[in-house]
Amino acid sequence: MAVGKTTVGRLLAARLGYRFVDTGNMYRALAWKALKNGVDPDDGQSLTRLAERVHMEPLPGNGGEPGLLVDGQSVSTALRSPEVEQTVSAVSSIPGVRLALVKHQRHLARKGRIVMVGRDIGTDVLPRAGLKIFLEASARERARRRHLEVTGAASRDDSSFNVTLAHLEQRDRIDSQRAVSPLRPATDAAIIDTEGLAPDKVVEHIWHLMNPA
Ligand code: C5P
Repeated sequence: MAVGKTTVGRLLAARLGYRFVDTGNMYRALAWKALKNGVDPDDGQSLTRLAERVHMEPLPGNGGEPGLLVDGQSVSTALRSPEVEQTVSAVSSIPGVRLALVKHQRHLARKGRIVMVGRDIGTDVLPRAGLKIFLEASARERARRRHLEVTGAASRDDSSFNVTLAHLEQRDRIDSQRAVSPLRPATDAAIIDTEGLAPDKVVEHIWHLMNPA
């Protein structure tokens, strides 16, 4: 969470002229739809049915927040609401939900020339991807980035920063301990420590991995 994968992925896709898909937005969209339809986030069967039926299409960001067309409705900022933030990890740990969304993600990737970001792309969704990258940074650094993004404040010491840090550590725990597709690097992924690295430097690094001298 907040490692910079979306920012880096978008920049890389633009540089390559590839399509970009943020799979986190798909799980967020499902959580949003469930909240909207009054589906209980603990009701695995109803959520699985919803995931199997929902139609999602990535929308180009046009410089702003990239969004999704969800059953014909354009959704972007709502995907980052506190309600969605609180529900998304539980929704994404339901096996039937993952099966349905992974199927959709594989379908999107079938034509190639795509940068796909998410926690399980190299391990599960696209195990034969041409290049796998796993981005890392410490929890404090990621919380600092997320806090800056949400509040515009750089402070590391106030109580809202500590809430961000606690929330991030909790989400990391749920995502890496869940039974289905836990968050971990693929054995053949290149691991990049992004601590102190600006997104364009990370993109440069990946570019060199794709085009070795
Ligand atoms: O990356 P982002 O913070 O937008 O993802 C939101 C949530 O969706 C994650 O915390 C995780 O629970 C879930 N997710 C997932 N698998 C992915 C992408 C996201 O489980 N490939």
